[in-house]
Amino acid sequence: MTDLIIIGAGPAGLTAAIYALRAGLSVVIIEGVIYGGQMSITNEIENYPGFRSISGAQLSEAMYKQAGDMGAKFIFQKAEQVRLSGDVKTVKTHSNEFHAKAVIIANGLKRRLLGCRGEEEFTGRGVSYCAVCDGAFFKGKKVIVVGGGNTAAEDALYLSELCNQVLLVVRRDRLRAEKYLADLIDKKSNITKLMQSRIREIRGENTVKSVILEDKLENCQEVDIDGVFIAIGYEPGNDIYKDQIKMDDYMYFISDESCQTNVSGVYVAGDCRTKPIRQIATAVSDGAVAGSMAVRFILSKT
Ligand code: NAP
Repeated sequence: MTDLIIIGAGPAGLTAAIYALRAGLSVVIIEGVIYGGQMSITNEIENYPGFRSISGAQLSEAMYKQAGDMGAKFIFQKAEQVRLSGDVKTVKTHSNEFHAKAVIIANGLKRRLLGCRGEEEFTGRGVSYCAVCDGAFFKGKKVIVVGGGNTAAEDALYLSELCNQVLLVVRRDRLRAEKYLADLIDKKSNITKLMQSRIREIRGENTVKSVILEDKLENCQEVDIDGVFIAIGYEPGNDIYKDQIKMDDYMYFISDESCQTNVSGVYVAGDCRTKPIRQIATAVSDGAVAGSMAVRFILSKT
């Protein structure tokens, strides 16, 4: 049995690991996608102290390497089932079962889907959720970015450097993105904003060829397009915990600044929990608290 299982290798989980490892605990980190989480697919980070500017991939690599060098054992599998009550906590993946004295859930958020026809069919064949990862495939082409938040705005700006034309499809009459990003978008001659618009369907053969676009008057037209980048935010992915850990109405784990849940020895850190600001800096802060609380909990039992 390991001392501590951490579910999620984003900034919260990796920081929790560093704190627990420094205190001498054995740590297993279970990660279903990629270390770094959302941070890993962020092009440029300018609000993480210590770095005027750093790519998400670089910062992810640095945190991952630090935890690994200190002795964290990484399991790149999805946590599928948990049993969190009692002194021995169990986390199951599709092929393994892990046991620990304490658990920190730092599983971040999952991407929100558009839910229109063709989205699932063409994912990876013209539909993407990561401009930084897939933008290069669309060099010189015409693409759509869906969403009006910071991510969509940054994606549109990033793609405007690679693609001939970028259509930014926003469902409301204004962007949610910060003003400096909105201003940058307005200065780009190859970005066109389509406000109060929605994609109704994504069409293609092997790859995406067009979308059915609905405008504010509910008129639909078919628009030829090479790629669709969906950037409409994230939502909690906490279903497997719902009968064990208390959550709010939106399925975020309920926790205060101690990161403690309603279950003894179980902590939550980062974007997955109730909190006003979801940033790398606040995830790291949670990780430090949750890691330290887990250390205290385990030491109190021995
Ligand atoms: P977000 O801020 O939640 O914005 C999501 C956008 O998608 C909104 O414009 C929303 O429209 C739209 N949307 C949601 N569901 C939709 C649907 N079904 N169809 C069409 N549009 C839909 O998400 P985000 O941009 O991914 O950002 C997430 C968090 O990370 C935010 O706190 C953000 O500030 C932060 N972030 C920060 C930076 C930075 O600091 N530079 C960069 C990226 C992200 P409505 O406005 O109508 O709801």
